[in-house]
Amino acid sequence: MRAVALTSLLLLSEVVMAVELPRTVAESSNYRSTSRYEDVMSFIAAVQRADPEVRVEPFATTNEGRALPLVIAGPPGVVDPRSAHATGLPIVFIMANIHAGEVEGKEAAQMVLRDLVSSSRALRDQMVVLIAPIYNADGNERFGSQHRPTQNGPPNGVGVRENAQGLDLNRDYMKLQSPEARGLIANVLHRWDPLLTVDLHTTNGSYHGYALTYSPTLNPDAPQELIDFERETLLPHIRERMKSRYGKETYYYGNFVDQLNPEKGWYTFDSRPRFGNNYIGLRNRFTILSEAYSYIDFRARVEVTYQFLQEILDAVTKHGRKMMKLADRADAQLRRGKLRKLGVRFEIRPWRDAEILWERALPAEPGAGAPDPWTEKGSIKRTGQIVPVKMTDYGIFAATERSNVPYAYLIDPAAKGAVRNLLLHGIVVESLRGETTLEVEEFAIKDVERAEKAFQEHHETTLTGKWKERRERFPAGTVLVRMNQPLARLAFYLLEPRSDDGLFDWNFFDSQLESKIAPVRKVEKPVPLEATIITEVH
Ligand SMILES: [Zn+2]
Repeated sequence: MRAVALTSLLLLSEVVMAVELPRTVAESSNYRSTSRYEDVMSFIAAVQRADPEVRVEPFATTNEGRALPLVIAGPPGVVDPRSAHATGLPIVFIMANIHAGEVEGKEAAQMVLRDLVSSSRALRDQMVVLIAPIYNADGNERFGSQHRPTQNGPPNGVGVRENAQGLDLNRDYMKLQSPEARGLIANVLHRWDPLLTVDLHTTNGSYHGYALTYSPTLNPDAPQELIDFERETLLPHIRERMKSRYGKETYYYGNFVDQLNPEKGWYTFDSRPRFGNNYIGLRNRFTILSEAYSYIDFRARVEVTYQFLQEILDAVTKHGRKMMKLADRADAQLRRGKLRKLGVRFEIRPWRDAEILWERALPAEPGAGAPDPWTEKGSIKRTGQIVPVKMTDYGIFAATERSNVPYAYLIDPAAKGAVRNLLLHGIVVESLRGETTLEVEEFAIKDVERAEKAFQEHHETTLTGKWKERRERFPAGTVLVRMNQPLARLAFYLLEPRSDDGLFDWNFFDSQLESKIAPVRKVEKPVPLEATIITEVH
């Protein structure tokens, strides 16, 4: 008996040993190739064979029918958002491949997943990690070797930026035109409510001295305490670790406005929440955009992205509690209806003077060099020399126009697309139970300006006009969005007529602008309103 037991014990340990951890396509091809959708799915399946406690759930189905995997690696017993939140641990979400030509995030995310069942398994006692390694799966499968011609590999090709509809998923966070974005918001950002989201990309543009650049949320309508913590504590901590552990320089994402004259300044990109990093700030959560440097080779980009992810997870073990407290506080402040004014239009501003690593470039005869990588004008020659240069870092945005945050918005129920959009974001939407007469503000439209050029299939629309007070009768069924909810910042951004990235901008209300009164009203002061929560639009 004893001998038998020993033998089966030996056999068992052999079986355990035999479950080999998978290698990524990047690793097994010596960094000549990146994973296809099927490769990622088999990698995940192999990780699950090694550790059946790792879970996978689909969070969206693409236009071409691919199920997008969300991998969940947490402590034992974490099977869904409820059990994840019940642990009281931070939830970190890593997403890769939103632009499917920018592929090292997809590879690094798989490596991090493998670590979570092996070398860094202990992290799973301290956090729940969610990984969506291949967000733009349809774009990933449109393989070609010429897709990002200035990117330094992999030589065997990459996918394309857009999804199968031709949409840029990193411009779709507000309008939610793609099944990928709708699934991401509803089934990951809303359902799991991660404390921190990390979105992995590759740069286009300037020649600088950083293996990787990063960005926090850039929209000033996000909670200031979160913005400050990220800029003053979290990102400097990670930057210092990248330097001390790996000898790698990293910095805030940006571009030289003129590669030949770096002293003209370093500019970040955009504050609008159509970009994921800005959108997540409006949900009172933390976010890091990661941009590996296009001009270093594929192996080096995978490596730096992997190291950056490791340091982010490590930083969460140190700062996660504080971050959770700040996020909770931001939610609580909104539940109490404490917001007064937020911005609707913004401009880039100087943040500080900084010493930024510039790659010296020289003017070249037309045809002898390449165009400036950012402006795509002129002709310049790279030198490979990295030089620190003092310049202004235009790294922040400030509101140029603000609007009152009301107690509630009332919306014409005929605007079904708009109401559906609010629900997809997870905003609490109600319907008035009976006819009600109220003091409200209406937005009298002076002008409707439609962009001549289509962008993402839309002619973005800018309204000008004025808020005016009036007394008005609202029928039962009028849609109500109260602002004493955690997603009030987002609701404001979507519903304000002058918002630079809201539902007016994205044409949701186009058929209702003829009356010259915007089809939303603001109830400025709290009033008792009888209403029923709605979850769908018929
Ligand atoms: Zn990108």
